[in-house]
Amino acid sequence: MSHAGEQGTLFIISAPSGAGKTSLVAQMLKHDEKLGVSVSHATRAMRSGEQDGVNYHFVSRSEFELMIGGGDFLEHADVFGNYYGTSKSWVRQALMAGRDVVLEIDWQGAQQVRRLQPDCVSVFIVPPSAETLRQRLIGRGTDSVEVVERRLAEAEDECSHAVEFDYLVVNDDFDHALADLLAIVRGQRLRMNVQQQRHAALLAGLCNHRGLHG
Ligand code: GDP
Ligand code: ADP
Ligand code: 5GP
Repeated sequence: MSHAGEQGTLFIISAPSGAGKTSLVAQMLKHDEKLGVSVSHATRAMRSGEQDGVNYHFVSRSEFELMIGGGDFLEHADVFGNYYGTSKSWVRQALMAGRDVVLEIDWQGAQQVRRLQPDCVSVFIVPPSAETLRQRLIGRGTDSVEVVERRLAEAEDECSHAVEFDYLVVNDDFDHALADLLAIVRGQRLRMNVQQQRHAALLAGLCNHRGLHG
């Protein structure tokens, strides 16, 4: 339950493809019921095992371009030759309802969101080595050899933007990386500007009585 006027925090999570962000975010949601993830719109082909409306809202390029024209996206970007974008209305409503929202987006989208919402918290996830990234992308078994090679080639570019983020998490041991991410969320919730909203009545009450006890 959120309190009146309490606004959620926007968390951005970026990583080179295959670093583990989707698996880590899925586990974060299981450990923290106050977190929600934004389901992006995307024009890439659906992978086997993916579901429309769950992994992405899969749309055609022309539908996506209509949505851009309609101002429907908080941010959008061309990643690996496909469009990806975040629904503005869904994110706004979730934050207004006091929920903390995770965006799994690329560095271009992260730059756009930071400009619009400077109080967002951004996290960059890296694999422990380039070779591990290759093994994970191959091991995931969802992409052709050409797509894997393209994503590996783009990984260097994505990683060159890591320093723009507030936090860096190395996904070597999965549970350790998950604990790091949950700690970032928990730390954010303890910040004074966030706590002041949540505990306004408590703080006011405690301060009002300071005269009683000397
Ligand atoms: P995966 O990260 O390897 O699982 O590959 P995906 O095909 O799911 O995502 C491709 C890229 O698109 C990644 O860099 C994502 O961070 C990025 N991406 C996904 N959704 C969005 C979005 O809504 N906006 C932006 N800007 N990028 C997105
Ligand atoms: P992304 O969303 O960043 O592209 P995924 O979550 O799809 O990455 O992870 C890529 C692959 O690596 C998946 O098969 C996943 O199960 C695996 N993986 C993720 N994190 C780890 C880890 N710490 N150790 C070993 N394998 C991992
Ligand atoms: P995949 O096609 O493997 O699911 O995702 C590839 C990349 O697209 C990932 O790095 C992911 O973070 C990025 N991505 C997914 N959704 C969005 C989005 O809505 N906006 C942006 N900017 N990037 C996205």
